[in-house]
Amino acid sequence: MSALRFEPDDKYNAFLTVCKAPEGGNGKLSGIPVAVKDNISTQGIETTCASKILKGYIPPYDAHAVELVKAAGAAIAGKTNMDEFGMGTSTENSAFGPTLNPRDTGRVPGGSSGGSAAAVASGMVRMALGTDTGGSIRCPASFCGIVGLKPTYGRVSRYGLIAYANSLETIGPMAANVLDVSLLMSVIAGHDRHDATSQDRPYSHTPSADIKGTRIGIPQEYFGAGVDPAVAAVVKKAIGRLEELGAVTVPCSIPSMEYALAAYYVICTSEASSNLARFDGVRYGPAVEIKKSWHAAFQDARREGFGPEVRRRIMLGTFALSSGYYGKYYAKAQIARENIRKDFARLFADVDVLCGPTMPTIAFKLGEKSDPLSMYLSDILTVPVNLAGIPAISVPCGTVQDMPVGLQIMGRPFEDERVIDVAYAYEQGGQP
Ligand code: GLN
Repeated sequence: MSALRFEPDDKYNAFLTVCKAPEGGNGKLSGIPVAVKDNISTQGIETTCASKILKGYIPPYDAHAVELVKAAGAAIAGKTNMDEFGMGTSTENSAFGPTLNPRDTGRVPGGSSGGSAAAVASGMVRMALGTDTGGSIRCPASFCGIVGLKPTYGRVSRYGLIAYANSLETIGPMAANVLDVSLLMSVIAGHDRHDATSQDRPYSHTPSADIKGTRIGIPQEYFGAGVDPAVAAVVKKAIGRLEELGAVTVPCSIPSMEYALAAYYVICTSEASSNLARFDGVRYGPAVEIKKSWHAAFQDARREGFGPEVRRRIMLGTFALSSGYYGKYYAKAQIARENIRKDFARLFADVDVLCGPTMPTIAFKLGEKSDPLSMYLSDILTVPVNLAGIPAISVPCGTVQDMPVGLQIMGRPFEDERVIDVAYAYEQGGQP
């Protein structure tokens, strides 16, 4: 083990904790500083999910992905800022202040893995771990101009990831280029007996830029209402470049996408209301004094410890699951989810990947989206992927107003290799 000096000039509030002299070892990631999103457990290093309710919590164990990253010789550089518990699309919902976009500090870095993206985009670290429940790796990758992969559900262990919506979320790699994303993926993927949903599908792949004959579906919904025409134009041009590189494009449609956002927000809030029930503020966080009753003390701690967006979602989810409304919301959302999964499966019988923009817009200004609904609407192009459990990557493909635009490439379950290859082909041959 060798200690590295890591003293980043964090002008962007990307880090919540910096490990000043992280230990590195030998292996595939020898001596590489890797930043870790603050909802991923790190032994001996405070892990808060950017929430006051977890302030002071020091996990006694490493998440499986962190254990693997360390075993590969990487040095844990620090813990990165995020939307509280992963709930948001801008990193403005952090209890510890927003992260700024290194490309334009008046704009958000995207979320919820905004700290990880900013740490990579500013060159403070070479790689980072993020998590993606409804777009939280791909959105900040798109907004900050880096590469981010949301792996197939089950391909990377969630053990040690503090749950927000466990049926949707996964840990995944973020880096400045496709090869580094692939390298980090090769370290973190594979089976783990501590996660019952983890599959025995390790990843060992050398990216290939040969995409001759690859069939790319272009879903019309990804270029429809709500998508900034300037962003759509940049992405269409990138897809044209993939055609020049030998891919074949096929127009297609995902009719069930109409229900994706509503289904996502019912399911994620329902799961959150259950997952977040455990936080009581007794051992860490606001440290309540039990004066009246336990009940009243927990209520006070949770009111004080959770930010407004988290409280809103706990209430929404509790309502969606309550008796009498369960069938109306949660059960219907599950039906929509199944239809989305089927639509993707139908398309993937004909095409190898689907392409479209990652986000409907470029990074917005800090404070620009002050109502929750307009923030939720920016997730429209990313959440279908989580509902279906498929892999998707965001790779930079140009700019609008000098801000990066991400090309999203979605693939069949467990074909993370293929989305990586298409991204690599674009990265290598994207600019004619
Ligand atoms: N923006 C989405 C949400 O707020 C996705 C967040 C995420 O992927 N963690 O739920």
